[in-house]
Amino acid sequence: MLAVNELKDIQGKRVLVRVDFNVPLKEGAIRDDNRVVAALPTIQELINKGAKVILFSHLGKIKHKEAPEVIEAAKKKNNLAPVAKRLGELLKKDVKFANTTRGSEVTSLVNSLNNGDVLLLQNTRYEKGEEKNDADLSKDWAALADAYVMDAFGSAHRAHASTYGVPEILKKEGKQVAIGYLVKKEVDNLMRCVEVKDADRPYIAILGGLKVSDKIKVIESLLKKCDKILIGGAMAYTFQKALGHKIGTSPVENDQLEYAMRCFKEANGKIVLPVDSMVANGFEGWTEKKEVGLDIPDGFQGMDIGPKTRELFASEIKKAKMIFWNGPMGVFEQKDFQEGTISICKAVASLNNVFSVCGGGDSAAAIKEFGYKDKFSHVSTGGGASLEMIENDGHLPGVDIIK
Ligand code: AMP
Repeated sequence: MLAVNELKDIQGKRVLVRVDFNVPLKEGAIRDDNRVVAALPTIQELINKGAKVILFSHLGKIKHKEAPEVIEAAKKKNNLAPVAKRLGELLKKDVKFANTTRGSEVTSLVNSLNNGDVLLLQNTRYEKGEEKNDADLSKDWAALADAYVMDAFGSAHRAHASTYGVPEILKKEGKQVAIGYLVKKEVDNLMRCVEVKDADRPYIAILGGLKVSDKIKVIESLLKKCDKILIGGAMAYTFQKALGHKIGTSPVENDQLEYAMRCFKEANGKIVLPVDSMVANGFEGWTEKKEVGLDIPDGFQGMDIGPKTRELFASEIKKAKMIFWNGPMGVFEQKDFQEGTISICKAVASLNNVFSVCGGGDSAAAIKEFGYKDKFSHVSTGGGASLEMIENDGHLPGVDIIK
């Protein structure tokens, strides 16, 4: 698989780069430009080599089945123009912006590019066919490019037109396709959690967050690879109920009870569940919180792992040589229920010589908020993509198509 620095003879060539500029926006202002910053090394490499750089990305969600005025409002909200401005500031150079995704405006802007120029196209999801990997759309975008670079790790688990259809066509045409620096770093780090070496054992996975059903496949896959899986967060209560404990009004997926039971038994001691919880008499606007053991009283719901579980999980984490973590241990958005998630951060931070990966999404937001980002060996930029990469033994459509 080629990397961006291995592309040959790209001076003066049009290089189409799929980036992940799906930044949080509030009233047109960028709240966090991390994703734009993360794409800079690849863009800079191409500028330095004198390529004509054409960037495209999705931003937010646009539901094309909605009424026309709803679609228009979603387009207005998810306009990439502020990102072009911010990218220009970061690169310290003019970044051209096409307010459309294809057609004459785009073609004439592409034709006007000089070597080393940068153009950003409007949000790929303005196009109905993007998420359907529409053949005509892919053809139109592919026609803009002499070469293609995939640097949107957060979208690599989706076979959309911009992530799959376009490189598929370009490959068939014998054009160069490559991964960017960001995708390369993600793949290199995450593959270590997929193809586990003896030196990286004990390998401990920590899973949390809301839904067992979202993480079934990753649990099954991790059971084959890991030495222990610590399960916290709301998803732990489905396991607790399956094992016959009282869970009060905690979130539970009743259709997953049988799966949870079977999975726990087959894991043969590999799955470690919480032994206590911090509970409250409601999710928001609660008036009473307390610490309870394995059984949660009626009218209360589990909001975080309890102090004994924090200790239990920390003692397991201390044995690890490699850690993969996805999903918070509790409702970390509320100050009263952050301790469990912070305790994982602290346990990981206290270790030397451990390879630790935070699998993106909410856990990445949490470690950043609590000031532990630097303590992890790798923090993934793609929550969904990193989980799918583990689930599918290292395969992602947007990366596989480049191979
Ligand atoms: P996920 O996207 O599956 O990683 O889930 C993340 C969400 O799970 C966060 O918004 C947390 O607030 C939520 N969460 C974690 N633990 C609990 C819990 N005990 N009860 C309700 N929500 C939870």
